[in-house]
Amino acid sequence: MFEKLFGTSDGLKDMLPKVRGQYIENVKLAKYTWFGVGGPAEVLFLPKDTDDLKTFLVRKPQAVPVTIIGGGSNLLIRDGGIPGVVIRLDAPEFSKITFNGTEVTLGAGLRNADLKKELIKRGVGGLEFICSVPGRIGGLIRTNAGCFNRSVDEVLVKAHIMNEWGEVYEVGAEDFNFKYRSSMFPDNWIVLDVTLKGIESKPEEIQKIIDEQAEYRKAHQPINKKTAGSTFKNPEGLAAWKLISEAGCKDLKVGGAEVSDMHCNFLINNGKATAEDIENLGEMIVEKVKEKTSITLEWEVRRMGVKK
Ligand SMILES: Cc1cc2nc3c(=O)[nH]c(=O)nc-3n(C[C@H](O)[C@H](O)[C@H](O)COP(=O)(O)OP(=O)(O)OC[C@H]3O[C@@H](n4cnc5c(N)ncnc54)[C@H](O)[C@@H]3O)c2cc1C
Repeated sequence: MFEKLFGTSDGLKDMLPKVRGQYIENVKLAKYTWFGVGGPAEVLFLPKDTDDLKTFLVRKPQAVPVTIIGGGSNLLIRDGGIPGVVIRLDAPEFSKITFNGTEVTLGAGLRNADLKKELIKRGVGGLEFICSVPGRIGGLIRTNAGCFNRSVDEVLVKAHIMNEWGEVYEVGAEDFNFKYRSSMFPDNWIVLDVTLKGIESKPEEIQKIIDEQAEYRKAHQPINKKTAGSTFKNPEGLAAWKLISEAGCKDLKVGGAEVSDMHCNFLINNGKATAEDIENLGEMIVEKVKEKTSITLEWEVRRMGVKK
């Protein structure tokens, strides 16, 4: 495990400000990630609402590092865990949904999947692709997630973010400088809510698109396995899975980490993998693809924390 930043037994929690939410010490983060691996958070903070989050950021000792996580569906948290405070927006206050015509404002803690029934009820279409992406709204924006030839930057109207000093700003899509599966999003910004623009649509049409997209995923991706989705970004004009396949990586394994036989850009924890197994397998693939094609694959999965 990491060297605790603030001494041994009860160091860090005692230095943190009084909040209305919850601090939990030494929480295993594996259960908060889709890969099911990862060491502990020194402290996990679950703020009660935006004001509580602000109080924490304003009053915490400056040297305490803060990491925000969402649904953990794009994360490889290393076996040594994450030093400092990890924040998750689990409180109901962060999961609100408010419609204004075909625009919808969503709390950053909302699970993408929970948007589905509201879109159908309101007859707001154009946002169906979001419902099939695992994870939550904050992570969706941060990663500029997309699928079925759509991405979230196309539908983003504005977002409220909180910076490391607890100040809240309204920002537009242009402030994020979105690129394919990434943005110039500063690491110290926390997304609080986002407003997306949809279009008028018939409930049965929305339902049909959502069902078709869910079926497609089921047929083409190992969605019921311990994975974090596409491991590597597609290099411009190329498909990462094709490069991985052509470099002979389809049957590679390291410890309990394997390449998915359903989609070779997905890595799988077979139940016994450590984060190190998964990271080493990924790096082995990067090397082999480079040897074969001179292309260096870039990780799409976000690696966090320290090695054991
Ligand atoms: C089976 C499977 C299929 C997938 N398919 C797709 C796909 O089709 N398209 C696609 O784009 N992705 C896909 N992914 C990857 C993943 O679902 C997306 O990247 C998702 O948007 C991540 O959201 P999350 O809430 O899980 O974020 P996390 O994985 O928890 O975090 C991702 C990043 O977002 C940051 N973050 C989280 N919340 C906030 C916040 N409130 N404020 C600021 N930063 C925040 C974290 O710090 C981290 O950098 C897939 C994953 C799986 C497991």
